[in-house]
This record gives sequence, structure tokens and C-alpha cells, in this order.
Amino acid sequence: MMSPLAFFGVSTILSSRNSSMLNEKIKAEAYDLGFVAVGFCSPDVDIGYAHYVSWVEDGRHAGMAYLERPTLLEKRKSADAILPGCKTVISLAYPYAVPDQQPKSRQGRIAAYALSQDYHIIVSQKATLLSEKVESLSGVRVNTHVCVDTAPILEKGYAQQAGLGWIGRNSLLLHPQYGSYLFLAEVLVDLRLETDLPFEQDGCGSCQRCVQACPTQAIMPDRSIDARRCLSYLTIENRGEIPLKFREALGNRVFGCDTCQSVCPHNVRLPEFPAGKYPEPMVNSHPDLAESLLIQPDVFPGIYGKTPVARAKHQGFRRNVAIAVGNTGMEEFIPLLGQTLERESDPVVAEATRWAIERLTRSGTKR
Ligand code: SF4
Ligand code: SF4
Repeated sequence: MMSPLAFFGVSTILSSRNSSMLNEKIKAEAYDLGFVAVGFCSPDVDIGYAHYVSWVEDGRHAGMAYLERPTLLEKRKSADAILPGCKTVISLAYPYAVPDQQPKSRQGRIAAYALSQDYHIIVSQKATLLSEKVESLSGVRVNTHVCVDTAPILEKGYAQQAGLGWIGRNSLLLHPQYGSYLFLAEVLVDLRLETDLPFEQDGCGSCQRCVQACPTQAIMPDRSIDARRCLSYLTIENRGEIPLKFREALGNRVFGCDTCQSVCPHNVRLPEFPAGKYPEPMVNSHPDLAESLLIQPDVFPGIYGKTPVARAKHQGFRRNVAIAVGNTGMEEFIPLLGQTLERESDPVVAEATRWAIERLTRSGTKR
């Protein structure tokens, strides 16, 4: 039941003891919902805004022009710009599973986060349930705003300030126990809750594994990613051609790249997921390349429409597949590529297909 205090604008007055108990209750609810880490911080903490602005000014956001829009840049300064009157940011981390089998020679590879139902839907539902609990647990009327990659917010900065983990050299939030295979979410609340201590340690130490393993040298010394070089960006957000100099490095990736996570020592021996608690994969992590090349536009949504792979659209996915086929070194793919090229109407996919045919023809000549 809602407290009558709420109607007199005193919703933010909670004694320290009550506030602490409330935090514990909210955390317990979050864990029940499947989040594996939860922490609280003020919206006004240092979230690395200046670092973010210099990343954009340097052009490292590549073709994501919306990131440089002045209104969005301004909003990223503080969560208060998203929820006016915000007093607390509740940072949350929700894990996703990583398949352990290796792809075979005729298979592609899809990034682990994209194998299940779109996280925007699943994690938003959970975070929304939690936001409703904040009101019922506090007994006062609160305004909340749920963000799951859906609002201009520097979520990794808030997660670090809320004590969830540190920002690793690969630019991702690393939790000491759950590593980096995590979706981050935030519940913004106009209720002042007791804050957690920021995560101050640097768990990377002298490790450089992700930097050394990145196939395109996209990891910058300041722990940011140059999206212009990053295979995740190039295979997902990028709508145009993939630059020639990165195509070989793409290997068999047909959507996204997990390399800077898979080599991280903090991502080995992760806790087991309790059966039935987390979404199961909906698509094959290692799709057959020949079948993928032949997927028709009307079939693509049925296979990938509910997963993040849909973000690349049919066009981007087939562009990636064509390049991955070109990287197999298998001449027997040439006739299939030729057939798809004959009826290809998209110039970006057609160019990638021609490139693949040329590459396979060249590699055959060398033998
Ligand atoms: S996702 Fe891949 S390409 Fe991008 S920084 Fe990580 S390892 Fe490099
Ligand atoms: S691989 Fe090493 S340097 Fe990179 S994020 Fe993990 S611990 Fe940090």
C-alpha cells in the first residue's frame, strides 16, 4: 500500500536504517529476478563523461552518427537528464550463456549475446518488475525510468560507481565473479537510497590478452574501442561495405565478435546457470554457411527476427556470410556464390560476394 506521505512530497525522506533495509530488500528482489549483481549510486558520480566525449570527438564511434547529436551528448552527462529529479541509479547485471563448442570448417559464428531472445525485451521486463517493487517496498510513490540500452546513459560508468565491477581494457564492465558476459540495465529512481561503494580495484592488472587477441587492433590504450576497426560494429551497425583491410580478420564471424571476451581470464570458470532460470538459445551459434547464404528475405525474420541478429538485417547478415565464405579457402563454394550473385539485387551484398569469389579463386590458384 502507498504511504500517505507520498502525496505531500516527502517521498525521499527515509531514515538511514530504513534506507539500508530497503536496499537489501530491493537487492533480494533483483537476485530473485535473475540479476547477478545489483548496486546503487547517485546520478551525479563521475561516470567518465569527459572520456566518452573525447571518444566521440575523435570519431571512434564510426558511423553511429546519433551518438554525436548534441542533445544526446548532453543527456549522457547525468541520469538526471533522463529522469528529472533522479536521486538514485540502480545498476543491474544479467548474465548470458556462452556456447562451448567450436565451429566446424563450413560454419559461421554468431556472438554469444545474440543467440537468445532479444535482451531488450527480456531484461526490460525484469527491470520493469523491479522498478514496480521499488515503489511497493518503499511504500511511497516513486517515479522510475528503466534503461536497457534504450536511453542515452553511460551504463558502464554507473555500474562501476555502483560497485558492480571495473571497466576492463576491452572497455567492458567486468564483474569479479561473473566476468563480462553480462547485459547491463539501470532503474532510475527519484528516491534517495543508500549508495554502495564504487568498485576501485583494477582487475586487469598487467594483463594485455584482449589487446593482443583483437584481430583488428581495435582496443585503444585508454580502454576504449575504435568502432571503425571493431568487427562487432562492422558486422552489426555498419550498413555499408566492410573495409577490405578487415575482411580477412573477420574469419567466420557472421554477426558480432566475442574475441576480447573469450580470451579474458575473468571469463573462465563462470558460475553455472540454474536450469530453466535463463533464456535458452533460439538460434545455432555456428550456422551452416551455405544455408546462411541462401536465406531468403521472407525467411530471415522467422529464423532471426526475435534475436539481436535481426539488427544486422537480412542484407548485413548476408554480406557478413559472403565474406565468411570467402575466408574458408574452400573453392567448392564458388558455384554457390556465383548462383547467389546472379540474382543479388543489393550492391553491398553483391560486392561482398564478388570479393569472396575472387578470394577463393585466388586461393585455389595458389595450390
Ligand atoms: S569485439 Fe572483436 S574486433 Fe571488437 S574490440 Fe573486441 S576483439 Fe576487437
Ligand atoms: S583480457 Fe586481461 S586486460 Fe583484457 S579485460 Fe580481461 S583481464 Fe583485462
